Amino acid sequence: MKLILLGPPGAGKGTIAKALMELDGSVQISTGDILRAAVAAGTELGKQAEAAMKAGDLVTDELIMGIMEQRLQQEDCQQGYLLDGFPRTIPQAQALKALLEKLGEKLNCALELDIPRDVIIDRLTTRRTCTNCGAIYNVKFKPPKVEGLCDNCGGEIVQRDDETEEAIENRLEVYNEQTAPLVEFYRNEGLLVTVPTSELEAVMAAIEDRL
Ligand code: ADP
Ligand code: ZN
Repeated sequence: MKLILLGPPGAGKGTIAKALMELDGSVQISTGDILRAAVAAGTELGKQAEAAMKAGDLVTDELIMGIMEQRLQQEDCQQGYLLDGFPRTIPQAQALKALLEKLGEKLNCALELDIPRDVIIDRLTTRRTCTNCGAIYNVKFKPPKVEGLCDNCGGEIVQRDDETEEAIENRLEVYNEQTAPLVEFYRNEGLLVTVPTSELEAVMAAIEDRL
């Protein structure tokens, strides 16, 4: 399936994408993961993205479209893809639409996870990420077996730079200003499916309904 995941940071887009990926072989494409890997590797792309990411601001549309134009044409996208964290602005959504037309592809839907703000803040401040494999933990709800170490790979688990209280406030503001308008955009495209939860079963039911 070809899906866009919409929703504020901390809504659970990544978790849903990983679960769907196992179902039908679609790949999760997270622009945040791609950018973080580039920063960690110290590539030119990473250098260009780093400052904006730390502050919780968006990197430029040009940079993102450069990444996605290549990524969507890779072999593993044949089975379908789950776009997690992209598009993030109206210009990105328009550029994606043009790109898909060029490639002759159609999206199944844009799935909006509509989660209350207090739930989001609580989730984000307690979230921890493995620096090695990207696995996500939560100090309250899903702690690792050994404190500070990843269950999967033994890597170090840390709080992301952009998950301090200040950066989170900023990310939510950026979401409301720049990304929330995509809900209307995809409603007008006839692609919007909204669920008030990130609970996997409910999300799956909504998607199956749609497909
Ligand atoms: P979140 O947990 O906020 O959904 P992501 O992991 O998707 O965060 O992204 C982390 C950071 O990477 C964002 O705060 C932003 O700086 C940058 N980023 C990721 N995707 C995009 C995009 N599509 N457009 C612009 N910036 C992006
Ligand atoms: Zn790990």
